[in-house]
Order: sequence, then structure tokens, then C-alpha cells
Amino acid sequence: MTEKTGKANVERPVFQSFAEAMSTFAELTKLETSIEIALKEAAVPHHETRKMLRAMNVLDTEATPLFQFMVLLFEKTGLGKLKLARKEIFRMEFTVEGCQVCKLYKNAQGKTCYITAETISKFFTTDLDIPSVCKEMECGNEGGKVCRFLVEMQPLAVYQIALDSTDNEIIEILFKKGESALTCKQIAEETGYAEEEVKFRCEILEKFRIIDSRLKLTEIGIAYRKNRSKVQREEKVFPPPWKNISKITENIAAAESFAEAIARSVEQEAEIVIDEKDIINLAEEAKKSKSFAELLFKRMKDENKEEDKNDRK
Ligand SMILES: [Zn+2]
Repeated sequence: MTEKTGKANVERPVFQSFAEAMSTFAELTKLETSIEIALKEAAVPHHETRKMLRAMNVLDTEATPLFQFMVLLFEKTGLGKLKLARKEIFRMEFTVEGCQVCKLYKNAQGKTCYITAETISKFFTTDLDIPSVCKEMECGNEGGKVCRFLVEMQPLAVYQIALDSTDNEIIEILFKKGESALTCKQIAEETGYAEEEVKFRCEILEKFRIIDSRLKLTEIGIAYRKNRSKVQREEKVFPPPWKNISKITENIAAAESFAEAIARSVEQEAEIVIDEKDIINLAEEAKKSKSFAELLFKRMKDENKEEDKNDRK
């Protein structure tokens, strides 16, 4: 045996008792059920996601309805209160203070909040339509002050949703003009949009590194233009899920109490099956009894005695 496996043996187990494992199981079932319901009803239309993607700093991002919805949704599922720590074009970093998942695995050493990371990546991938991966970078159970989650979004999907048809029109004009640099005024004349509007959009395109400060397409901009239509992301217009938040909350609560009932019945079953004390007593009695019949009879008598005692109390 290597020293490494020897060391693993002395590490504390994740659960101290069977009862603790069962109650954690019940909590996890509840959590997973409510997450499943929440994610199913949280599809966000592109025009709302666009607002969040175009927000360039933490404060502006936090002010978007989508971000506020996400915080509320995660809170309702029981995952805790998300905070935004960092916002870049393709990356967002969230923290959770006083994480509930950590408490479920309070004896674990190492990162434990894979459920939160998985939920964030599913929310981005499925509900926001942006293929994303999320990793837990720092965990309360690993000595961190908070649990910290980093989301990395697929750049092409971010561009496809963040930039709208007007941005694409501007990109097209810049591409056709090729080497000759244009001013905002010239772009405005070409497209028919107001100069102020063009200026504002060029600032965003520059932040997304599609154009440079001279309003020329960058290599990224040219690559985006080329790949833009490779994966079609049809813009579906539907009401954002926060219009329906009370219904989502109701469904989460209903699913939670259902999961709770199931978990409770599993817990009760487990209690009946495992009763070590009885097994030991039975073995002791068996030594003294001559036959199984005698043993059974003896046990019945003992039980009656117990009942008599209880009756007299
Ligand atoms: Zn954690």
C-alpha cells in the first residue's frame, strides 16, 4: 500500500453517520428537484440576454432585469444568494456567501459545490442559449471566505446574441469598405442611422474587440463576420420568465414538498431495515434458546412485558 492511500484512510468521512447521510440525501433531492423546475421555466429571450451581455461592468450588469432574475431564481431554489464579482466579455464570476451546499457537506474537505456550478452552466447553456462551462474556483469548505464560480461563455454565441442586426449592418459596411477607414458620420450616411446612434454602437463594437479605435474591423471582427451565420440563432420573441416569477416560485415550492415526501418515505424505510440493536439482542437470545420456536416465543413474551410496563406508566 502506498503512503497516499494510507493517508486517505485517516481522512474524515464526508458523513459522520447514516442518519446524517440520509438527511443530506433528502436535502439534495429537494434541491435538485427545485433546480430542475427552475431551469425548465427560465428560458430568456435573446433581447434580454443582450442587455446583460452588453453591460460592460459589474454595476451595469447587476442593473439588468436578467441578472436580478437570476439572483432571485437561485435564491428560490435554495442555492443561496449570487453576487457578481467580475464581468468580462466572455467571462463572469459569481460568489455565494454562506453557501447552503457547503453546509450539506460540512465535513468534506475540498470543493463541494458542484451542484451550484452545474446549475449556473445549465442556466447559461439552456436558458440563455450560450454554451458555457462553470467551475468552482474557491469553496467555503476549502477554507475560502465565499464560494466562487467562474463561467466561461462560448465567444461566437456571445457575439451572435450580444450584437443585433443594426450592429451587423455596421460591420457589413466596414467590411465592404475594407482598407479605407470610415468615420461615424460616414457610417451614419451609409446606413441612414443617426450619427449619435452609430457612435454609441461603435463604442460597443470596440469593447467587444470587433473594431479598433480607428473603426476598422479587427481580426476577431473579420472572423465573426465570416462565422456569424454558421450556427443560426433564431431570435425568438417571447415574454421574459420574470413576468411569471410567482408561478415559477409556486412550482418550485410544490416540487420541493413532493421531493420532501419521497425523501421522508425513503428515510422511514431505511429506519425499519437497519436496527443493529435488535440483531445483536436476537443473537444473544439465540445462545440461550434451544430452538427457533422457543426463541420466537421468548421474544413475544419480552415484547408483552414491555407493553405491560408501558401500559402501567
Ligand atoms: Zn463551495
